[in-house]
Amino acid sequence: MTECIFCAIATGDAPATTIRKDDRTMAFLDANPLAPGHTLVIPTTHAERLEDLDPETAHAIMDRLRELAPAIEAAVDADATTIGFNNGRAAGQEVPHVHGHIIPRFDGDGGGP
Ligand code: 5GP
Ligand code: ZN
Repeated sequence: MTECIFCAIATGDAPATTIRKDDRTMAFLDANPLAPGHTLVIPTTHAERLEDLDPETAHAIMDRLRELAPAIEAAVDADATTIGFNNGRAAGQEVPHVHGHIIPRFDGDGGGP
């Protein structure tokens, strides 16, 4: 069992509601969602920060964010999505394994960054 919770989710050693998985990336629902459908997209191999990713994996993460954002938006009938990374502890990164947030947004929800 790995000590990194997102590595454990990627290997199936820890549970998560999986949205999509492929060789390089995995998308799953956030355990403490800021909105219905709040999804995290991670590399399946451990990297702490965005700049630690190899270019192919970085591209794959961006591809997944681009594909999933409109699908999630439609699935929860949202009006938009906030997509972002907390890149480093001082930025609010609590899990030291790269993860992109897809947060559905609704007209008038007032929760923008
Ligand atoms: P950060 O603040 O690091 O950018 O975001 C970490 C996110 O991971 C938070 O939104 C938190 O709810 C989510 N999270 C932390 N631990 C787990 C977990 O074990 N499972 C899932 N699905 N999400 C988690
Ligand atoms: Zn990890």
